[in-house]
This record gives sequence, C-alpha cells and structure tokens, in this order.
Amino acid sequence: MAKEMPGPTDTPAAEEAATGTSPPAALFRLGIASRLLLAFLAVTVLAIAANLIAEHGTSIIETTQFRTIVAPQAPVAAPPAAHAAPVRARNAPVVVGAAAFLAALAEADRAIHARVESPGAKTDGELTTALEELTRQTTTYWQPSGAAPGDRRAKPPALLGTLRDDGAAAIRLADKRRERAAAYLAHVGTLDATMKSAIDQSWKIFGRVIARQSLIDLGRGLDALRSESSALAGASPEDGAPLVALAASEARLQATLERTQEGLKRSQGEPWVSSVQARIAALADERSALAASADELQRAAAQLAEHREAIVTLVRWRAAAALEHAAALERAAAARAIPVPAKAAPPPEPEPIVEPPVVRRVISAPPSADEVRIRQWVLWISVAVLLWMFAMSVSTILSVVRPVRRLIEATRRLSAGSTAQVPRGGIKELDVLAAAFNDMAQQLSASRDAARAHQVKLEERVQERTRALKHLAEHDALTQLPNRRRLFARLNEALAAGVISGERVGVYFLDLDNFKNVNDSMGHAFGDRVLQSVAERLQETTAAYGFAARLGGDEFTVVYPGAADTAAVVEAGQAICRAFQQPLKVGERQLNMSVSVGISIYPDHETNADALLRAADAALFRAKALGRNRLSVFSPDLVKAAVSKFSIEQGLRRAIEHDELELVYQPQVSLRSLEPTLVEALLRWRTSGGKVLCPGEFLSVAEDSGLIVEISDWALRTAIEKAATWYYGAWPNVRVAINVSPRQLRDPAFVDRVQELMAQHRLPPTCIELELTEDVLQTGAATIDALRRLRELGVAIALDDFGTGYSSLSSLELLPLTRVKLDRSLIACIDTSTGSRAIASAIIGLCASLGLEVTAEGVERTEQLEVLAANRDIQVQGFLLARPAEPDAVLAELARLPSHLRALLGMVSPAGSAAEAPERAHTGTVVRLVPR
Ligand code: C2E
Ligand code: CA
Ligand code: CA
Repeated sequence: MAKEMPGPTDTPAAEEAATGTSPPAALFRLGIASRLLLAFLAVTVLAIAANLIAEHGTSIIETTQFRTIVAPQAPVAAPPAAHAAPVRARNAPVVVGAAAFLAALAEADRAIHARVESPGAKTDGELTTALEELTRQTTTYWQPSGAAPGDRRAKPPALLGTLRDDGAAAIRLADKRRERAAAYLAHVGTLDATMKSAIDQSWKIFGRVIARQSLIDLGRGLDALRSESSALAGASPEDGAPLVALAASEARLQATLERTQEGLKRSQGEPWVSSVQARIAALADERSALAASADELQRAAAQLAEHREAIVTLVRWRAAAALEHAAALERAAAARAIPVPAKAAPPPEPEPIVEPPVVRRVISAPPSADEVRIRQWVLWISVAVLLWMFAMSVSTILSVVRPVRRLIEATRRLSAGSTAQVPRGGIKELDVLAAAFNDMAQQLSASRDAARAHQVKLEERVQERTRALKHLAEHDALTQLPNRRRLFARLNEALAAGVISGERVGVYFLDLDNFKNVNDSMGHAFGDRVLQSVAERLQETTAAYGFAARLGGDEFTVVYPGAADTAAVVEAGQAICRAFQQPLKVGERQLNMSVSVGISIYPDHETNADALLRAADAALFRAKALGRNRLSVFSPDLVKAAVSKFSIEQGLRRAIEHDELELVYQPQVSLRSLEPTLVEALLRWRTSGGKVLCPGEFLSVAEDSGLIVEISDWALRTAIEKAATWYYGAWPNVRVAINVSPRQLRDPAFVDRVQELMAQHRLPPTCIELELTEDVLQTGAATIDALRRLRELGVAIALDDFGTGYSSLSSLELLPLTRVKLDRSLIACIDTSTGSRAIASAIIGLCASLGLEVTAEGVERTEQLEVLAANRDIQVQGFLLARPAEPDAVLAELARLPSHLRALLGMVSPAGSAAEAPERAHTGTVVRLVPR
C-alpha cells in the first residue's frame, strides 16, 4: 500500500494555516493508491458475490427438518391360524391333545417369528419357553396308547426336529439380513455425514445455505437414497421393491457424481470425491449382499412354513379321525367342543426410528445446460475484468505514486539547497508537471549559483571594505597617520605598559606655525600636500622611539612610550623642532615650516590619555603664545590659560545665541575740514555679567574655533543695517568702515552677501568701506578678484594696520585700495622717533601719489596730532579725538568732533593762522541732521 509521504503542509495544523480551512476528514486524505485499492477491493467483492450468486443462484437451499417415521416391520410370514381351526371335539383326548399341541406349535411358530423379527432377551426367552412347551406337548400328544406303529402319527417328533432347525435357520438368516440392512444404512449414514460436513462448510445467509450446484445435486441424490433406505428396515424379505428403488437411487447418485465430479473435485477436493465414490460402490455391494440374504431368509421361512403346515395337517388329520370316532359317541352323548387355543398376542409394534434432523430440501430447479454455460462465461468475464482492473489499478497507482514521490523527493532536495532533476514518466499530467518542475529547478539552481557567486563577491568586497573601513576608522585619510581613535588606543597601551615598567610616556602636541597662511595663500590642495610632508617628516623623526598621529587640521601628536626620564622626553621634543628647521619638500617647492610643540609626561603631569593630551595642548598654547618654533613643557599654571580659552569659546557660542555682541563706532576725522568723514565699526562683547570685552580678548579664540565667520557676518550685517538707519536718518553722508577677516573674504559668496545686505537695506555702496589687512594677499587671486568686484560696485577698500612688521609696498599696488590706515605702532612714536616720522611721511606721500586716502590710527596724544597735522590731507583716528562710541551716542560724538579737533589743533597752532585753520565752511555743525 502506498503510504503518503508527509509534505510541508501535511500536518493538519500546517494545512489549516496554509489554507485557512479546517482539515478534511481522514478518509478524504487517503492517497490515490489507497483509494484505488479500496475501489478495487469493492469491485472484487462485488464480482465474487455476483459470481457466487450466478453460480449458486438456483442453489439457495432451505434447511428444514422433517421426521421419517419408519413403518413397522412386517412378519416374515403370517402365523398359522391355529385358532381358526374348527376344532370342536374337545372332549376327545386326541382332540384335546391336538389342540394343546397346535397351540404350542402356534406359540413356537409365533416365538420363532417374533425372534426373527426382533432379536433380544425377551424374544429369546419366549422362544425357549415356547419350544420347551412344544416338546412337552409333543410328548403328550404323540405317545397315545392307541397309535399303531408305522402310522403317520409316529412321524411328528422328527418333523418337529426339522421344524426346530428351520426356525433356527430362519432366525440366523434374519439376523444376517438385519446386519446387512444395518450395514447398508450405516454406509448411507456415513455418506450422509460426508455430505453433511461438506454442506456445513458452505455459507449460510439468513438461514439459507449457499453451496456449489454440484454439491447440491449430489446432496439431492443422497436425500433420495436416504428416503429409499428408510423403508429398508421395515420391508419384508420377500418385498424386493425397496431394494429395486435403492438400486435406482444408487444409480442416480452415481450418475450425479460422475456428472458433477469435476466441480466437486475443485470445490471439495479429489480425496473427498474418491471417498464418496467408494462409499457409493460399497452401498451397491452391501445392497447385493442384502438381497442375497433376503432370498435365503425367504427360503428358510418358506421351509419352516412348509414343515409347520405338514405337522398341522397331520394333527388335523388325527384330530379329524378322532372326531369322527367321537362323533358317533357325541351324537349319542352331548357333544363337547374342542377348546380353542388362545389367540396369539400380536407382535409388538416396533419402535419408530427417528432420523436425525437436518435434511435438505432443494427448493429450486436444477440449472439447465445453457445456464451453466452462461455462468461459466460470467465467471471468466468477471475474472478477466478483475484482472484487467487490477492491472489498471496497479499501473495507475504506480504511474501516479511514483512520479509524485519523485516530485516530493525532488522538492525536498530543492528546498534543502541541492540540485534536483525529476526523472520523467507517469501519467501525462504528472509528466508535464515533472518537466515544468525540472525547468523551475534549473532556473532556481542557476539563480542560486548566481546568488552564491554574487554573495561570495559581496563577502569579499565586504571584507575588503571592512578592512578599508577599519583602516579609515583608525587612520587619517590624508596622511595615513593614526587618527585620534587609534592614538587613544595606542596611548592607552603605552600607559598600561608604563604602569608596569615604571617608564615615562611623553605626549607631544604639535601645531604648524602660520599654516593658516599657507592654506590661505597656496590653497587647500597645496596645504594638504604640506600636511603630508609634515606627516612624513614626523614619522621619520619619531619612528625610532614612538609614533605620530594626526588629530585634524594642522595639529599632530607624537607619543614616546618607554622614555627613561623627563629629560629624554624634552630632548625628543627639541629633536622634533630641529627636524622642522630643515625646509620641507612639497612637490618642486621648498617650504620653511616651523612647529610649536607642547609636551606632557606620564606620570609626572597626568595619568590618563585624555588628561595627558589636554595638558600637552595647554603647553602648546603657551608655546604659541611665546612665539613660533617653540617648545613648552606642561606646568600646572598652563591649565588656567587653557581653561580660559575653553571658557571664552563656550561663552562666545552663547554670546552669538543670546545676542551679547555689539558694535561701537569710532570716527575718523579729516584734518583739512576738521569734520568726521566716517566711523569704524568695532566689535564688543557684553557678557551676561555686564563686562564688556574687546576683540583682543576673544577674537583669536573665535578664529581658532571658526566662530569668526559667524561673528564677522553678524558685524557686517549689523553695521550695514545701522548705516542704513543713519543714511535714511540724520546722516545722509554716512560712511561706515567695517573690519573684514581673511576668512570672510575667502568665501566666494562674500561679495554677493555684501550686495544682498546693501540691497536689503537700500544702502548705496559708497556708504561702505571694508577694512582688511595684508593677510588677504595670502588668500590668493580669488580674493583680489572679489575686492575688484566690490570696488566696481562702489565699495571703498581700506588696508588696515599698514606699516607694521611685514607690510609690503607691493600690497598697495596689488590691492584695489581706496585707503591706507597707518598702524598704531607706527603712529605711537611718530612724535619721538624721526624714523617713524620719516616712514609715516613717506607712506603718506606714496599714498597721495597713488591717489589713496590715508588714516593715521591710534592718535592718543596732541604731539602725535601735531606731527600729523603737517599734512592736512590725511584723516586721523584715535582716543585723542574720540573713543569708540555706542550707536546711540555716535551722532552726538560726530557733532562734537569738529570743535573738539579745532580746539586740539588750536593748542598746537595759533588761532589766527588762517592758513593753518580749518576752512570755515567745515566748522560748526559738521553733521547735518537733515531729515530725508
Ligand atoms: P583695528 O581695526 O586696528 O581697530 C582699531 C583698534 O584700535 C580698536 O581696538 C580701537 O579701539 C583701538 N584704538 C583706536 N584708537 C586708539 C588709541 O588712540 N589708542 C589705542 N591704544 N587704541 C586705539 P579694538 O576695538 O579693540 O579692536 C581691535 C581689533 O579687533 C581691530 O583692530 C580689528 O582688527 C579687530 N576688530 C574690531 N572689530 C572687528 C570686527 O567687527 N570685525 C573684525 N574682523 N575685526 C574687528
Ligand atoms: Ca580697523
Ligand atoms: Ca588698525
């Protein structure tokens, strides 16, 4: 039986989950094999039943019971009617003796017959008694004194002997015949038992026995034989009819057996048929013997009767003679009757023989030859159909179950990830399914291979990327030096080793001097290459004892693990500084690049990586403050500076957010007109504590932190806004100078931003002057272009802080300037130093020849003003004239200025000197408070 393999959804729960319906009953889940087999079995049962019914259709027999009542056995011969004899001469002695003798004779005859008919102690006893009585009566009757010798009366004793012998022979032969009959009946019984057992093995349905027709036919023959044989026991020996009837029954039975023996051999087996045959033959033998013994008995009975009749005749003759003799006497005397012997008791009724029950009666007619033929056809067709159906079932099962199993197996293999090709075959639909499955499996395995290959590639790439990412995560992309993360890891390792070894660990914080300028002037790409060269130089220098890392920008770190002492650490730091005294090679160019170094030492200063780096940073701050190319070792007071820098930065961020920045305005005054020509916007930070800080206190921190961009933009915006207020208010000729950081100018959108703000506040560009330092020259050609565009717009450009350390005259030629502001340091000693005075005068002259205006900054003393006043074409700015004023106070300050300046100038020159005095037109109210 094909057992269905459980599929992925074979469990009822899974199926329910998959289909959302409850699972069907178990019967409906039988496999096709089970279903076909069930159908085949049903058809088989039907076919067998049909065949059985067809074959035994007329063989439905009824089991009933009936009794065979055996008729009483007839006597061998009628007993002599002695009583019937007309014996009347009772008084005669002969007659009386004759009567007694005849009675004894009749009794003996009756006893013999009784014994012949039924043997037994009773009949034996009666026979003996009767014979003894006969002997006695014989003696009495046959020895009368009057008998003459040779008289026939003398014979009876011999006849009696013969009679005795005849009786004995009849009894013997009767017993023999009885034995034969019993034997015959026993044979019938045996045959019947044989039949009965065969029929008992047949089927019984609803009280009916269903057996083979052949068996039924035979049973029918046997029934006839049995009923014939039942008459056997009661039949008289001379009655030959029962035996003839038996012979006929036997012949019929034999014929039936011969006809049906083939069928019976198949159903009951050959031994059974042989045994039935043998028993029928034995019956015939037994019947012949029985017939023979009946003949013998008949003969013996006839002889007995003959002898008895002879004796009776003799006795009658004697009695008649005696009667004749007595008649005479009687006629004379009263006649006396001969006593009539008592009538013999009739033989006892034989007991009826009760046959055992279960006799079958066939209630249907025997089939005809045609019917038999049809039944055989039905049988063969049924067998053929069954065989065909069986073959079909098996082939269907195989052609469904095998491919399905192969498909299931292949599906399993496929789902397990291996390749699966199903062999073709089975019914058409399954074959098509197998082909489709193979296609699908092929595509699946192809895509699986592709996916696998792709995955391998992907994994390789992921590994590669992971390595790259790890490197990237731990190294600086530009210089390939360890980054902050890696630095911390390695520094921690070094510190852990230091804890064990007790050795020192040096941490160096490096900053390139003026790298910002390099970046600004040479561009970022060049700056990057410089940083790469610096990294190489650092690696070369430190490889022997430690490693270098880059934290970002131009900040580098070096770690020196396992240093013997503080001196060794400091010596290594100096070596680093020395290494940078050699010019760096960047491409084809040689570049002088110095470094400032801050040093912290474990465990002298700090014990953990973070604190050591902060300490080194603080030391660096100090080194920077000291000037370039310096080395500074950490000391606790450096922490204060570092903390202050940090707090300024944090405060500045807050200041931007909380609007703590302000602008103050310091006027510049023309020495010729004595009127203020413009105001310079200067930044102030009013802290939350109310303290006002000047740019010197926070601007460097703002630059370092990058906050300068935001702050400068705020200043630009606020100054333009304020200028517009003045322009559209009390000061139509307003001019505001705004300080611009190099970073702002590097922004390509800066010009647009200025334009946008001016447009936004509808301020003419001529009201604005931008102040910048010579640093802008290092920011590249783009900056100069931006300045040109601003100039084209009408914005004035002033070069601030000119005349200090590195000022170059070429700046005046390169930049599109409108003004030069002489640095305070130059003005400071202009009255005391002839050199300063000469330089100032030369620059003023040069500027005049270049068409540039000049402003002298930081005029604090009247002496300075006195020197400067020699040239009335310049403007002056300084505390002597006016300190930076808050916006609201500016106009008043401006109004005050001319008279204030006149007073100042009056101190240095006589008031009457018209040539020296400012022009009248410019005296009085310089600022016209004109409403627009
Ligand atoms: P600066 O551009 O040279 O500005 C002039 C500085 O000199 C101002 O200092 C001013 O208060 C000071 N000063 C003016 N007259 C005298 C004087 O007679 N004696 C002395 N000792 N000082 C005088 P302040 O306001 O502290 O500004 C310092 C620097 O900060 C400025 O120098 C300028 O470079 C920068 N700065 C100021 N405001 C801004 C700003 O809004 N943006 C940018 N980028 N920088 C600004
Ligand atoms: Ca300035
Ligand atoms: Ca200045």
